[in-house]
Amino acid sequence: MTINRVTVVGAGVMGRGIAYVSALSGYQTELVDVSEEQLQDAYEHTKQTAAKGIKRGKVTEEEAEQLLERLHTSLDLASSAASADLVIEAVPEKSDLKQKVLETADQHAPDHTILASNTSTISPTELGSYTKRPEKVVAMHFFNPVHVMKLVEIIRGLETSDETVEMVRQTAEKMGKETVEVNEFPGFVTSRISALVGNEAFHMLQEGVASAEDIDKAIKLGLNYPMGPLELGDLVGLDARLNNLNYLYETLGEKYRPAPLLEKYVKAGRLGRKTGRGVYDYSNENELIKK
Ligand code: NAD
Repeated sequence: MTINRVTVVGAGVMGRGIAYVSALSGYQTELVDVSEEQLQDAYEHTKQTAAKGIKRGKVTEEEAEQLLERLHTSLDLASSAASADLVIEAVPEKSDLKQKVLETADQHAPDHTILASNTSTISPTELGSYTKRPEKVVAMHFFNPVHVMKLVEIIRGLETSDETVEMVRQTAEKMGKETVEVNEFPGFVTSRISALVGNEAFHMLQEGVASAEDIDKAIKLGLNYPMGPLELGDLVGLDARLNNLNYLYETLGEKYRPAPLLEKYVKAGRLGRKTGRGVYDYSNENELIKK
């Protein structure tokens, strides 16, 4: 089987990034969402990413042009899945939402189609159980920002076939990524560590151990992380971070209980860069404010 057509479901932070690398690497790509506004925003964002790529010498003008020719948008998952060889879902990290998307994709996609999830934490065995093709369900975990980050974690569920794992490995490599294969366990490798570090930083901020800027600076310069955990949380989205922690808290226990300050920020709608304010304020990019 050859993968030619990719459907990406969810045009948010991750879906638009996955669609970008997919179209850039030669796949006919359709980005599907329930919101026309999100689709338009994602398309504009893709054009800007391509334009920046040209300026930085990462993509040629011709590659950017072809990328945009290969990228389509749709509000109709059923018809998009009907012509896809690979569906990658990137809807919010909620089992019921993912279930709905996978059930629809399973119902309408041809038998050969692989259904992949960009989940950060949820068991691919559970995701496979929502379909009649668990051997073709797999987690394909990209990182943010997708066009920059090198890794894709591949996680097989109980029934995932070797062929499915091999196909998504080849696809990720064609998209310019390195892969690791991880055994199924909540949070895989990266989300589990990242959730703990991010949550601990929120506890420290709440306890007044140091300012947000100094916590981030200490971790970057003292531990050689490329980004501080609080600025990373703002990039990932604090709602996404909270969802991950809640899932890990339910599945792995007490040490993942979300910090109350993180819950408070999410309640207040301070979700990070995407809403203009999280731990830091992005209304003026040069001006960082605390709590
Ligand atoms: P997001 O909230 O930015 O975007 C989700 C998109 O899905 C929205 O555009 C929304 O309109 C759309 N959507 C909701 N229900 C839908 C449906 N039924 N059909 C089609 N579209 C629907 O979310 P995100 O941060 O991109 O996260 C998506 C997934 O990727 C999650 O599983 C998350 O855990 C995972 N992930 C996120 C990051 C990150 O840094 N944000 C990193 C790795 C993995």
